[in-house]
Amino acid sequence: MQARNSYMLAGVMGWPVAHSRSPMIHQHWLQELGIAGSYVLLEVSPLGLQQALRALPALGFAGCNLTIPHKVAALAFVDEVEPLAQRIGAVNTVVVLPDGRLLGRNTDAFGYIRSVYDARPSWSANARPSVVVGAGGAARAIVAGLMDEGAREVRITNRSMDKVTALRQEFGSALVPVPWELRSESLRDSGLLVNTTNQGMQGQPALDIDLKLLPADALVSDIVYAPLLTPLLRAARERGHPTVDGLGMLINQARLAFDAWTGVMPQQSTALQQKLESTL
Ligand code: NAP
Repeated sequence: MQARNSYMLAGVMGWPVAHSRSPMIHQHWLQELGIAGSYVLLEVSPLGLQQALRALPALGFAGCNLTIPHKVAALAFVDEVEPLAQRIGAVNTVVVLPDGRLLGRNTDAFGYIRSVYDARPSWSANARPSVVVGAGGAARAIVAGLMDEGAREVRITNRSMDKVTALRQEFGSALVPVPWELRSESLRDSGLLVNTTNQGMQGQPALDIDLKLLPADALVSDIVYAPLLTPLLRAARERGHPTVDGLGMLINQARLAFDAWTGVMPQQSTALQQKLESTL
């Protein structure tokens, strides 16, 4: 969709939001593509979310991103929700439509799947089972993405099993719940392991999983991006596994949002990658 204003305004609503790397990413593309505009941090409290979203059309915004804690709540405050965002149960991108209505989208599934293809173009979701560790908001997007790529078996494990059980009901029998104690065993015969928990993030302990049973050529990915080289990715590299870090998902989910607001799909670039890495 083409931005209707000559000045492209977008931003990210979060609470807190100061840590967000999204302004750096979108400002980079605005500059690179010569598009006049700005992408700003919008510190919006949960109580102010509805009003803040409703103000977007009058303020001339093309849309916004949503981060913690707004991704689920926003479903109720937009006028239309794309089927994928509905299935995921979260909105990370809002697009102001030409008539001023708000469309809720989710670009995280695309972001993750694209990051895997970028790292390994020959990867196929249906070749072997995938193992998803964690069952929070990001996991829901990744499970949806894997299913849409044709995955026949996605094993999922989480500290709290109730979330896994709920996901199984929504996504069906291709999603195979694995008790948390059996997470290391679930790696047998799999082609992809993805950590979607916060374990391995700065200030958090490493994800507690043993890679011994993971086939040697399996991909290991971690959506945590601070630090970029998490203990999980370090352990995987030491064992010779190909790895995918969390910046790929971050950049690719942003590409699709930028496209929705401007009609231009920006490209991955070493310059942007390096800019972001310098902040991590
Ligand atoms: P979330 O909905 O709060 O989910 C957090 C997940 O971490 C849950 O599965 C939770 O398990 C698990 N967890 C928390 N503490 C744990 C512990 N001590 N041991 C084991 N598991 C634990 O968060 P989210 O939005 O999905 O985000 C998860 C991570 O992904 C964050 O680090 C976030 O920064 C990152 N992320 C990255 C991108 C990207 O673009 N690269 C995008 C989105 C998110 P329980 O259910 O048992 O609590």
